[in-house]
Amino acid sequence: MKKGKISLSTKIFIGLILGLITGIIFNFIPQGFIRDELLINGVFYLVGQAFLKAIMMLVVPLVFISLVNGAASMGDIKKLGRIGVKTVLFYLATTAIAISIALSLSTVFKPGVGLNLSNSSLSEVTIKEAIPLVEVILDMIPNNPIASMANGNMLQIIVFAMLIGVGLSTLGEKTKMITNLFQQLNDLIMKIVDFVMIIAPIGVFGLIARTFATQGFDAMIPLIKYMSLVLISLLIHATIVYGGLLKLFTRLSPIRFFKKFFPAISVAFSTSSSSATLPVSMEIAEENLGISKDVASFTLPLGATINMDGTAIMQGVATVFIAQIYGVDLTLSSFLTVILTATLASIGTAGVPGVGMIMLSMVLQSVGLPVEGIALIMGIDRILDMARTSVNITGDAVCTMIVAKAEGEFNEEIFNSETIKNKSL
Ligand code: ASP
Repeated sequence: MKKGKISLSTKIFIGLILGLITGIIFNFIPQGFIRDELLINGVFYLVGQAFLKAIMMLVVPLVFISLVNGAASMGDIKKLGRIGVKTVLFYLATTAIAISIALSLSTVFKPGVGLNLSNSSLSEVTIKEAIPLVEVILDMIPNNPIASMANGNMLQIIVFAMLIGVGLSTLGEKTKMITNLFQQLNDLIMKIVDFVMIIAPIGVFGLIARTFATQGFDAMIPLIKYMSLVLISLLIHATIVYGGLLKLFTRLSPIRFFKKFFPAISVAFSTSSSSATLPVSMEIAEENLGISKDVASFTLPLGATINMDGTAIMQGVATVFIAQIYGVDLTLSSFLTVILTATLASIGTAGVPGVGMIMLSMVLQSVGLPVEGIALIMGIDRILDMARTSVNITGDAVCTMIVAKAEGEFNEEIFNSETIKNKSL
């Protein structure tokens, strides 16, 4: 980054703040053609969606190509297995910690006490059924890998890509050309990520401005306690748990980590999608945090698909909230069931906006709570989705840092340097 030139992450930050301010101000402007048609559903929508679509376009090829590369370049299957087991265990453990924080705080602060559901017309809302766990597991195996890619089914793509990667690494010299091709494809797709990131600040502005302009704040007032508790739990998890784990396992500065990872956090915040953020977090992991491509290209796509600590936090607070407004006492065994179900549900939660809400029905059902309770919190979910998605992807990056450091796949010089190699992120 040259002196005097504004870095991309500063530009994204400016876009985010301006979007927030604009969105809030728009709530006080009377409805009309210029406000609604021209700006909210015209300009803001156009720039926001253009950015979102451009990064979404890259997700399937990126996950596929980078996982093939990641698995192929591990060299030996033992190393891949070791990193895989460490990563998955870490993902599951942090999700269980996340939901425990959420359950404890909401049991103490009782967000649902004082609210009564009897007056609301909850039956009008239809909530999609969550998929049973056995189906989630079976569904990881693709019938037709091309269809999996066409439908963007991440778990199936991950399974297929890993098999190809392991196959390539086992065949070694024999398939050198294909391995090289995948490496070049990876460079190509990362180049396209660079192109797309040029419009990130404007895209972030459009997405945030439109969300806050159309959200409306009336519905929020009775739910402020619930919202605050979700946000506080997210903050505690991000700072104390992630910061603590990072310090404990890597001895690196959590502050520096958050500073350097910030562009990815703001993209997650404005898109509410872990998958859409993946191209950005992969680039930052390598260029900005010093994580080796081999590890990042394996753990980050996996994390964006199966690791959702922020979502688990929302589900924990929501479960206690709904139990309280229905006057149901949750027993210790219900709490344990919630921890287990929400942790497993996070594997099946797709990294796109709003899916955490759908998976919440599975968690509620597991402890016999009425699924209709979701209707009450649905209206404000969009804003919480932004915050929890930011935590979801931060968790992936923290785990990746820890695994990379433990495996000697981490470049401390890049992490500590103030400038960023070849980039102005
Ligand atoms: N939007 C979240 C994500 O992409 C998932 C969710 O909680 O709805 O990580």
